[in-house]
Amino acid sequence: MTIDGTAHTAAATLDVVNPATGAVFAQAPDCSAEQLDAAFASAARAFATWRRDEGARRDMLRAAAKALTARTDDIALLLTTEQGKPLAEAAGEVRSVAAWLTYYADLDIPREVIRDDKRGFAEVVRRPIGPVAAITPWNYPLTLAFWKLAPALRAGNTVVLKPSPYTPLSTLLVGAILRDVLPPGVVNTVSGGDRLGAWMTAHPLARKISFTGSVETGKRVAAAAAPDLKRLTLELGGNDAAIVLDDADIPAIADKLFWGAFANNGQVCSAVKRVYVPRPLHDDLVDALAERAASVRVGDGTADGVRLGPVNNRPQFERVSDLVTDALAHGATAAAGGHPLELGDGCGYFYAPTILTGVDENTRVVAEEQFGPALPVLSYTDLDDAVERVNAGHFGLGGSVWSADPGRACDVAARLDVGTAWVNTHLALAPAQPFGGAKWSGLGVENGPWGLYGFTELQVIHRAR
Ligand code: NAD
Repeated sequence: MTIDGTAHTAAATLDVVNPATGAVFAQAPDCSAEQLDAAFASAARAFATWRRDEGARRDMLRAAAKALTARTDDIALLLTTEQGKPLAEAAGEVRSVAAWLTYYADLDIPREVIRDDKRGFAEVVRRPIGPVAAITPWNYPLTLAFWKLAPALRAGNTVVLKPSPYTPLSTLLVGAILRDVLPPGVVNTVSGGDRLGAWMTAHPLARKISFTGSVETGKRVAAAAAPDLKRLTLELGGNDAAIVLDDADIPAIADKLFWGAFANNGQVCSAVKRVYVPRPLHDDLVDALAERAASVRVGDGTADGVRLGPVNNRPQFERVSDLVTDALAHGATAAAGGHPLELGDGCGYFYAPTILTGVDENTRVVAEEQFGPALPVLSYTDLDDAVERVNAGHFGLGGSVWSADPGRACDVAARLDVGTAWVNTHLALAPAQPFGGAKWSGLGVENGPWGLYGFTELQVIHRAR
């Protein structure tokens, strides 16, 4: 771990499993309560200086991007080994970190003059909040960490960052690399189980919590923030729908739609998690998706040519298996997959990419977030009814509409109760584009200037003439 700019082990450790083999390949420190205190104390000390020099912060964010980019191969290999994703995607994740750091280094934070007349002058400035508790899940440990770190640091805050216990190592390596770039205490990286997350959200020195994870945990985090009125951003689960319109060209959209659902093995908060297609197009779309699901190469992420790795962890693997089994038991058909895959020594968490048809709206795999390589395709006859079905329920992260007529698709997209509504694409994200969820999918946004504003508080400076 990195606490106050130096390396720390811990008395206890956590096993880290390679999901491609199911075997423990490393141990990570299990941070003690005293070590967490030291991390927050260090972040609080560092805050006093870090907040003052904006130019230095911008330079150091650029230096951080450079230092991490120089270690892309090491970080990517570790990420693949603990997370499962193919090496090329792990390297892409490291590149995304550099892109986010650079974007925020270059971003100007305006001082807004709201009054300038003979009676007074008033401006609105944005001040950093203080030490941030940043907590991330296991699907994109680095990308999601830097959606928090880059804007938090740019705005003048300091951070204590905790990755998921399933994927702690790449984050700890990043923390170690940054020791040579950032002043002590500006970024502390600690690892531990869920208990450590709870300690962080209750810590008196944490002034802001930035959390990405499940809806269930997000609600606990919100409750933990309340007694101390800590500032809060929550990026939570999703159950994104793709609505295909009746004029869509199936061969033209099938590839994009497939990868919108199966990127990172479906373990993306805003992946396509259910598809609604007009009845006459249903069979063609199912065939096109099933053909891709059956032929995509699944395997150990370190092997050449692999496009989908294992599911990240055993509980998640079991959850995906259970949801598919439940759907099949309730009358669904697997047009592709529908079962685990025995690869290598048979102990990895591999699951065959699955396309389900004949699934009822209330089946768990449709109503809940599956977060894995299984996609239900549902048909509709009336578009208004489809929109209503898509908007039902508590999730509201993203959604997409697919059509040969983008204008018509945009009109439908605007009716979705979601944070991001895509047209003829899904999962398109960028540092400048705010990302967040409606309803139970989140609170606040990340990315763009809006994401940075979440790490600031407004102050009005009002001067009498
Ligand atoms: P999770 O909620 O189980 O865990 C997320 C993190 O919270 C982990 O680091 C965990 O150790 C920590 N944690 C657990 N209990 C805690 C507590 N009581 N207090 C504080 N921290 C605690 O989620 P997960 O299974 O790791 O990730 C999958 C979920 O994350 C999915 O629902 C997915 O949709 C969501 N997700 C959302 C986004 C987004 O940007 N909206 C992005 C990626 C993933």
